[in-house]
Amino acid sequence: MRVLVLGGTGEARDLAARMHHAGVAVTSSLAGRVARPRLPVGDVRVGGFGGVSGLREHLGTARWDAVVDATHPFAARISAHAALACRAEGVPLLRLARPGWSDHPRAGDWHWVDTHAEAATLTATLGRRPFLSTGRQSLGTFLAPLREHAVLARVVDPPHLELPATWEVRQARGPYAVPAELELLAGHGTDVLVTKDSGGDLTRPKLDAAALLDLPVVVVRRPPAPAGVVTVDDVPGALAWLGRSDLGVSR
Ligand code: NAP
Repeated sequence: MRVLVLGGTGEARDLAARMHHAGVAVTSSLAGRVARPRLPVGDVRVGGFGGVSGLREHLGTARWDAVVDATHPFAARISAHAALACRAEGVPLLRLARPGWSDHPRAGDWHWVDTHAEAATLTATLGRRPFLSTGRQSLGTFLAPLREHAVLARVVDPPHLELPATWEVRQARGPYAVPAELELLAGHGTDVLVTKDSGGDLTRPKLDAAALLDLPVVVVRRPPAPAGVVTVDDVPGALAWLGRSDLGVSR
């Protein structure tokens, strides 16, 4: 069996590792966005395919038995492209998307919004010292509404934007722990936390810290998933779909 994993997440790396160690031919695909990506084990290809047509061409040539779209829940474009291209080329496609954070004990108190633009407008009214953890690509949306705010923005790679003097950028990559998140939020004097509903345990501690500090939290809802694609929410589910449940046990 030959499997293409659309990656860029911890789940994608875990899935690739389990299959690779079992001798399954797996290739992971990365967009090439971050300067020093965490590389999956096994074969890796880097860079976009060139839209739906490019991905169709790739699928037609490479002849994968299956594609697992294990990209980030907010990577909506590649997921849509995968759905269209796999359907057109007759390649079985699975979406692996970890659950969001709606199970958090404080999720009912959060301010849920549909877009980063809504998050920016709302955040401007909720505090003066926001902590932004929505990622580098979304920072531009927050610029105008939060130009006068004392923003602390956490990103993996430095943004290519000119930021106001009132903004501070912190470069870091999870996993994070609650004590350090508490220190960071309190040290900045944070009065509102902004995140997207990425889900997963690696970056969840900021939400626990915000709860302990009783901070308002603005959460951007996930974009809708492409219709008609079988979806699982964890790696064992993906292995079961691939007919390799035997690889789903703890290593
Ligand atoms: P996106 O908006 O959905 O995709 C934009 C373009 O990037 C796609 O059209 C595709 O280019 C290329 N691309 C995306 N993922 C790819 C992959 N795994 N392999 C090959 N090409 C890929 O994606 P994004 O939100 O910029 O995210 C880029 C990558 O970072 C994803 O792989 C995702 O898993 C990871 N990531 C994203 C976030 C996030 O918050 N969005 C967070 C953590 C990790 P072509 O059209 O040329 O094929």
